[in-house]
Amino acid sequence: MRAVLQTGYDGPSSCRVGDVAVPVPAAGEVLLRVRACALNQLDLLQARGAAMLPGMTLPHVAGMDVAGEVVAVGEAVDAVAHVAVGARVVVDPASPCGDCPSCRSGRSGYCARPRIVGGNVDGGLAEHVVVPAASLHPVPDEVDLTTAACLPTPWATAWRALVSVGRVQPAETVLVHAGASSVSLAAVQIAASRGARVIAVVGSDDKVEVLRKLGVDDVAVGAEAGAFLLADRTDGHGADLVLDHVGADTWPASLAALRPEGRLVFLGNTTGDSVTLSLADAFRRGLRLLGSGAYSAQDMHDALACFWTTGAVAPVAVRLPLDRIQDGYELLARRSTVGRVVMVP
Ligand SMILES: [Zn+2]
Repeated sequence: MRAVLQTGYDGPSSCRVGDVAVPVPAAGEVLLRVRACALNQLDLLQARGAAMLPGMTLPHVAGMDVAGEVVAVGEAVDAVAHVAVGARVVVDPASPCGDCPSCRSGRSGYCARPRIVGGNVDGGLAEHVVVPAASLHPVPDEVDLTTAACLPTPWATAWRALVSVGRVQPAETVLVHAGASSVSLAAVQIAASRGARVIAVVGSDDKVEVLRKLGVDDVAVGAEAGAFLLADRTDGHGADLVLDHVGADTWPASLAALRPEGRLVFLGNTTGDSVTLSLADAFRRGLRLLGSGAYSAQDMHDALACFWTTGAVAPVAVRLPLDRIQDGYELLARRSTVGRVVMVP
C-alpha cells in the first residue's frame, strides 16, 4: 500500500510517499481503508523531531485524525455493528493502557502509556491503518468521511475544555480566543449547543465571516476590540468563562476579561509558555484558573455525539492527495487556513 513515510527529523522533507505492506489486524484490532486523514500540528512537530511520543520509531506513518471503512476484523473483536466489515467509522487516536494509576482512577486522559494512532503507532497517512476496535466511532450516513476526519482531536479537546473542565452553563457568556482555529471552531459550536452566548476574538478581518456562518454574531478583530465588545454585551461585568489555547500573548487579555469568580480554561502555549500573574488580582477577584489536559474517551464520545446531533459544521480548508504531503504541511505551518488540511489516500 502507499503511505507517507517519515524517515528522519528534518521536517516535511523527511516525509515521502512509499510502498509498505498492508498491516494485519491483531486480536482486538481492525483494518481500515483510510478515506480521509486531517493533519495536526503534532504531525508537523514530530516531523521536526520537536515532540515525539514515547515509543515512536522510524520509519513512522503520521496521521491522528482518521476516518474510513472497516475492511478486516481481527480475532476477539466484539461483533457489534460499528466494527463489522463495511462500517464507516472515525477513530479516537488515543487508546489508554487501562492499567496505570491514572487509568485505574478514571483519568484515562492522563494515561502514562497511551497508544496514539499516528503518534507512537502508525497512523492514517496511508491507504490502510490498523486500529483498536474499541477506538472506533460509527459515522452517521449523512456525514461524509472527510468531515468525520476533521473531528476527533479538535472536538474532543474543545469538549474537555468547555464542558468537562469549564462546566459551561446555559446563558453564560463565553469568550473564545483565536476564534477561527480548529479547536475554537469546535468550541464556539459546543458552547452554543449548551445555551451559552459566545464572543469570538479573531486575528484578522477575513476570519470574521466564517464565525458568522457558524451563527456567532459577536466577533471582534483583536484583543482590544474583543474587550470592548465583551464590556458592551455584559454591561461591563465580564465573561463567565474564557477559553484560551493561545498562550502568553492572550493571557493578560484573558485575565482582564473575567468577571469576579470567572473561569479561565487554558490549554495551549503556542505563543509562549511563561506568563505573569498578580496573585492579589487573582484572589481578590476569586478567579478560577483551570488547566485543561488531554481528553478522555468519554470526552470523545460526548463531543462526537454533540456534532452528530446539532447540525454542527467542520470546515475543510483543502483536500490533497497523499503525494502532496509537503504542500499539506506547508499550509499547516503557515497557520493561516481556516478549517482542516485533509489528506485523501
Ligand atoms: Zn494508562
